[in-house]
Amino acid sequence: MMVTAASSFPSFCFVSRLLKQKHVDLKFLVLLPNFVITRRSLCSTPSATCFPRFPNPTSVVPRLLPAVSPSSISHCQIIHSWKIKSGNYGDLGFFGDRLVVAYAKFGRLDYALNLFEEIPHKDLVSWNSMISVFSQRGSLRDNLDILRRMRSEAGLVPNVVTLISVLPACAAAQALDAGEFIHGYAVKLGFWSETKVVNSLINMYGKCGSVHAACRLFQAMPSKTLVSWNTMVMIHAQNGFVEGAIDLFNSMRRASIKPDRVTVVALLQSCADLAAERTAKAIHGCIMTSGFNSDVAITTALIIAYAKSGKLDVSHDVFHELKTPDMIAWTAMLAGYATHGHGKEAITIFNLMIKEGLKPDHVTFTHVLSACSHSGLVSEGKKYFEAMSNVYGVEPRVDHYSCMVDLLGRSGLLEEACELIQSMPINPNAAVWGALLGACRIHNNIELGKEVAERLFEIDPLDPRNYIILSNMYSAAGLWTDASRVRALMKDKGLKKSPACSFIEHGNKIHRFVVDDCSHPESEKIHARLEELIEKICQIGFVPKTELVLHDVDEEVKEGMINKHSEKLAIAFGLLVKSEGMPIMITNNLRICGDCHSAAKFMSLIEKCVIVIRDSKRFHHFADGFCSCGDYW
Ligand code: ZN
Ligand code: ZN
Repeated sequence: MMVTAASSFPSFCFVSRLLKQKHVDLKFLVLLPNFVITRRSLCSTPSATCFPRFPNPTSVVPRLLPAVSPSSISHCQIIHSWKIKSGNYGDLGFFGDRLVVAYAKFGRLDYALNLFEEIPHKDLVSWNSMISVFSQRGSLRDNLDILRRMRSEAGLVPNVVTLISVLPACAAAQALDAGEFIHGYAVKLGFWSETKVVNSLINMYGKCGSVHAACRLFQAMPSKTLVSWNTMVMIHAQNGFVEGAIDLFNSMRRASIKPDRVTVVALLQSCADLAAERTAKAIHGCIMTSGFNSDVAITTALIIAYAKSGKLDVSHDVFHELKTPDMIAWTAMLAGYATHGHGKEAITIFNLMIKEGLKPDHVTFTHVLSACSHSGLVSEGKKYFEAMSNVYGVEPRVDHYSCMVDLLGRSGLLEEACELIQSMPINPNAAVWGALLGACRIHNNIELGKEVAERLFEIDPLDPRNYIILSNMYSAAGLWTDASRVRALMKDKGLKKSPACSFIEHGNKIHRFVVDDCSHPESEKIHARLEELIEKICQIGFVPKTELVLHDVDEEVKEGMINKHSEKLAIAFGLLVKSEGMPIMITNNLRICGDCHSAAKFMSLIEKCVIVIRDSKRFHHFADGFCSCGDYW
């Protein structure tokens, strides 16, 4: 839309320029001569075609505002100047509130704030509009300030809308104190049982990490809506309480609440994190019956969940059911092949995607390069690294360099990896050096490892993983003094290794194990089965890698410690409960240790079963005494 003015009048551009200046007094426009909004200029934009030549501002504004597209801040300015020219600027009311929100939506918070201050008689709606604007921008301090002014200047009492507008800002800022203050306020105002307020409070507590408080509120809710259930599922998933999220989903179904798209995607993400294949299957069934099967976002979440649960073939089938997979779906499939170490298949998917006319982006290339890295495809990796900028115009980012360093390093080309780091046009970050340190560990290059670790201690002094890798390298080489020096350094900084944890799904439940875990109800049986297993594998040549135990203690004690790692307990439990011919699926939160890796190979041989372990890096498929990673991970 454009506004033309008679030749002696200032042009709209002039007005626009004025408006663009930060603290321009918008009332100034009242002093300008009349603007003429011509039919021709109005007709030049689709949103304006329906307006008569001289529209009545009050009748048109409410119709025009929702039609303004995000690129048209100038539309707002025109409407604004229009209102000024109508002569009743003092009566901003509803018009002003809508325009405040519209200005903020187009990124002009300064205009929104100026206009808000100009509204003479701000009612509750005006204050709430400004609060919602600040909430969307996550500016909690401004929000609380507006809330204070609302009470002190205008003497207004917040309503439900005010509270549900402030709470997301508390959640975004993870400000539990402020959130609790609003909670107290809600109770004082008598809104403690308002469903919308409670839903917002649950979300706030969940985002601030206080899941217990959220649960208490949820349980006390007189009427739980779908939003309440979804919020609970989401906050459990986001805080890592995946079993809780799955339990909630089951309770939701028992309560005959039909899950929607939000529940399904949140839950599938949880299944993916825990490799909960059975639950993913149940949700899959639910997707089929609820008619969600044509939803690309849900199908993509399903592809990821199956791939991460080790069911790559099912992922593949789900992917093929998509009529027109989008870029995200293709990339999800590619990532699935990459983490399972099927480099060649990942490259095939990439080529098919290009054939379909889709343009790969930096995420696609991260997966292509990591696929090459996990499968040791050095020349292919180099080829795609070259092609990404030369052919596809995607400049390599630090992630791509880290994949390349990983690829070269794993393959033993440590020198080439160092040269690549030196040639980087951007500063190498901890991920790049971390990849090189991992390679030094695999190839037992202590000299280089020491240098790289020193760099990492400078860049990221608080990451315990680097200290652990270096200390493990020293221990494995029998350099106990050096190992304990690194451990002491780590202790001085107050750093702790996060405890290793293994998960296995059985009977619609996720069973969790930590090292030497005796908390499982079947604990005695599990430990007995594990002892029997260790004895059997030792008879056919398994030697515990006691050098991986960091304490300088007796061999027998070391063996005892390493034999009760969480992965081994999970395998023993898996063997106790698994049905004939079914693989054992385990997820580990950290990188699998060398001893468990070796034990799993022997166990797959004597028990004649497939054991799949997903660690923080990739999938390991153990069968007939071998692992799909080829012992490089
Ligand atoms: Zn282990
Ligand atoms: Zn492996």
